[in-house]
Amino acid sequence: MIKLADFERCVFELSKLPGIGKKTATRLALHLLKMTNKDVESLVNSINKLKTNIKFCKECGSLTDKDICYVCLDEGRDRKTICVVEEAKDVIIIENSGIYKGLYHVLGGRIAPLDGITPDMLSFEKLLNRVGDLGVTEVIIATNPDVDGETTAYYLKKLLADYDIRITRIASGLAVGTHIEYSDEFAILKALENRVELK
Ligand SMILES: [Zn+2]
Repeated sequence: MIKLADFERCVFELSKLPGIGKKTATRLALHLLKMTNKDVESLVNSINKLKTNIKFCKECGSLTDKDICYVCLDEGRDRKTICVVEEAKDVIIIENSGIYKGLYHVLGGRIAPLDGITPDMLSFEKLLNRVGDLGVTEVIIATNPDVDGETTAYYLKKLLADYDIRITRIASGLAVGTHIEYSDEFAILKALENRVELK
């Protein structure tokens, strides 16, 4: 039997990526082999640069190439409103819509007991500190409208219950099951405009 250690190693590494099973990883590895050296090189370079230069903002957890992201540094933003999302990619999508003018807070995931993700693994404590430090008046919960996202929203609502602030949840114009990453600008606008009071 032919042993192609280097090929198998590449398949193994690729299959560590989310949503990539062994079959897809094999297809990708084959595709990489067919690509030009130059294209593979720029792919590898871009991954290296990503790891070297891009980090998570020390304040809000979204992506930045500095210690603090441009949203957190922007004094022109509404610093009394924080939109809480699950992942940094959600910030990119909401930010690209150009509609929202407040700050963000990235939890780094959502509460998912079945996947072993418990509240202590997410940045709730940091959020509470920011709410206090910034004198926040509204927290908009923009976790995804699925079971784990709702569980996380409920947990957040209870966590913030003693604070004298507005707690709102984005509307699902955004139909249930439609994740933020698949939403267009109009849906994001509607979801923010029609947000509902949680207390
Ligand atoms: Zn930030």
